[in-house]
Amino acid sequence: MTDSLDGVRLDYTAGVIPSGYRVYGSVATRRNSITVRQLSPRVLWVDVFGYQATVLIGANSAMLIDPLDDPRAHAIVELMRREFSVEISCIAYSHWHGDHIRGANSVLESTRWREPLSIVATEVCASEVRVRGIYPLPTIELRVGDSFDFEGIELRFSNVGGHTVDSTLINVVADGVAHCVDLVHPLQAEFFSFGAALGFGDYVRALEKLSEQKWTVLTAGHGDIGWPSDVQLALEYCAGLKRVTAEAVREVQSAPERATGDSPMAAAADLRKRVIASAVPKIERVWSARLPGLKFAVESHVLSVLDDILYFD
Ligand SMILES: [Zn+2]
Repeated sequence: MTDSLDGVRLDYTAGVIPSGYRVYGSVATRRNSITVRQLSPRVLWVDVFGYQATVLIGANSAMLIDPLDDPRAHAIVELMRREFSVEISCIAYSHWHGDHIRGANSVLESTRWREPLSIVATEVCASEVRVRGIYPLPTIELRVGDSFDFEGIELRFSNVGGHTVDSTLINVVADGVAHCVDLVHPLQAEFFSFGAALGFGDYVRALEKLSEQKWTVLTAGHGDIGWPSDVQLALEYCAGLKRVTAEAVREVQSAPERATGDSPMAAAADLRKRVIASAVPKIERVWSARLPGLKFAVESHVLSVLDDILYFD
């Protein structure tokens, strides 16, 4: 194994990682390098410039879960060919977002696998991809809960939602490896508005589904290598966030002086501003040390919960 791929720094440590292992290091450093770790004897965690895919090494070829975008997809094809002597024969999609699947075109063009590539996704994901009409369509559509066999390795696909309607948990059952992206960000605060989640309630339900399935280690798409404790931490944070935000809403709604204006949005804007002012310092005090970067996203988190309380709950 070399320490660079076409001039890009390649950080690979052979051997299956121990339980609870973290890559650490600055995310800014990883934004310029490729980091590879072994989650099991045949499953790799591949971080290319801060985005993560999972690769299964089969007896004859490799399966790529999330082709990412370019130039990341191209880098993974080259990495597998040159460092692991294997061609990609199969792709899976975790959800329809272009930053995680746009590179499928590049994989289709550059793989030297002798047969047409299979692209696997759930029916729900396939339907989302079809509506957009810009990315290669899945060739194998699975119903919710269906399994897929890749060279004798069983993968179970289930839609958990929370981020998009088609957000899929792909579980490599025998290896205890889960691939489920854009929901949990290990060693970081959760993303702005919980990654544009459908709604805070849906987001929490997705975390619960993720925590109910049996797996040991997680490819989360961003952040560090994930473990079940990361999902528990996110659930704990959501519970605390909801409690504090609900208290702030009650406090503000019972206050005598409420702004009104000539726009129907004025009162809503005033409520949002006051709830943020009351809830954010309390949340930061409790959670900042455990969730790096929280100060950037906490206002958006409070607003997600506020919308949930006012309109969806
Ligand atoms: Zn996404």
